[in-house]
Amino acid sequence: MAVSWMNNITVAVRVRPVAKGGFRCVHAPEHDRTLLDVRDPDDKMGGSDYLRLNKTRGKRFTFDRVLGEQAQQADVYEATAAQLVQPTLEGFNGTCFAYGATGAGKTHTMMGGLDAPGVVPLAVHELFRAAHEGAEDASVKISMQYIEIYNERIRDLLNPPDEGAGGKHERALDVRESPSAGTFVAGATEKVVSSAAELLDVLHRGNLYRTTEPTGCNEWSSRSHAVLQIVSRSQDRFDDGAPVRRGKLSMIDLAGSERATRTENTGARLNEATNINRSLLSLANCINALADRTRSSKAQHVPYRDSKLTRLLKDSLGGNCLTVMITCVSPAPSEFEETLNSLKYANRAKEIKVVDVQLTATVDAADRQLRIVSELRQEIVQQQ
Ligand code: ADP
Ligand code: MG
Repeated sequence: MAVSWMNNITVAVRVRPVAKGGFRCVHAPEHDRTLLDVRDPDDKMGGSDYLRLNKTRGKRFTFDRVLGEQAQQADVYEATAAQLVQPTLEGFNGTCFAYGATGAGKTHTMMGGLDAPGVVPLAVHELFRAAHEGAEDASVKISMQYIEIYNERIRDLLNPPDEGAGGKHERALDVRESPSAGTFVAGATEKVVSSAAELLDVLHRGNLYRTTEPTGCNEWSSRSHAVLQIVSRSQDRFDDGAPVRRGKLSMIDLAGSERATRTENTGARLNEATNINRSLLSLANCINALADRTRSSKAQHVPYRDSKLTRLLKDSLGGNCLTVMITCVSPAPSEFEETLNSLKYANRAKEIKVVDVQLTATVDAADRQLRIVSELRQEIVQQQ
């Protein structure tokens, strides 16, 4: 099955709230939800002068959606991941990732808290609601994987190492590719879940294994990429020969995008920083290559193989899939450089846009071969 889509990437920017009053290096105008005004705090003009001078001295960006400081979690969800839910059930791949410096609001946006659930729990609830609603017509099986990429090593957050008997024994996991499953982490636990509550419970338990660094706090999680992949396998009930459609929804809380020089990086820390940059850098390189390909409409090598993250996302980024990028930024003047860097990155991602993209649903491979055989038979019969 193929469907047309308006475009294959949505680039949204969310500005996190900071204390009221005072200078802001980014401002989302009320009247237009696609604009973002940026001003260098070194211009030393704050408060009411900001808007007046902004026209001449600031820089204006446009994105598919800008979510200002007042935006609620539900607003962010509606503008971003909500559009990926139905396609997942129909057999398409979708990716939603949060990009930005540490403290810019990525984890808040993706996971949120009990009182303000983020994009992930909201999407999960909607996925199960929609699957339940369509249960008379199609049976749906939903499973999940949850892994962390830290220092270019993949850890299975659903099967943590046994820390009891003399330390950690972690199996090294790697990314593989197969015609039936696309790209996947070989050996990572795939857990079948039957409700949103069960999925979120498993996810929260997985999250507990992210913060085990001796230095505590969220040091570790800000240096690692957390990748949740939800797979839906659905089959029409009233059509015996109906294929099993397999859709994959990837939701990623990326490592902090700040440059290595900002924090004191020595020894192990430097190694971490280099590896984080390797994954984020190759994500940027892939985005650049996809943008160039869009512009020149020529075959362009996309360097998916350069890092674990991009190898895993090969079937969920830029190809036969839908991508939503949420760039999180802070309006605090002290964050100006990081904010501007993140916005430039998001601006580049905008260029990947393929208008009127045709997507083809994924069907399980064994099933696909059977269908090809039966289609060929039909063709032969028609020709005779
Ligand atoms: P990151 O994951 O990008 O490092 P966090 O999501 O952990 O950043 O955000 C840093 C802090 O700011 C957290 O305490 C978080 O709860 C808070 N925060 C971030 N964004 C928002 C928001 N939109 N509304 C309220 N609090 C927020
Ligand atoms: Mg975080």
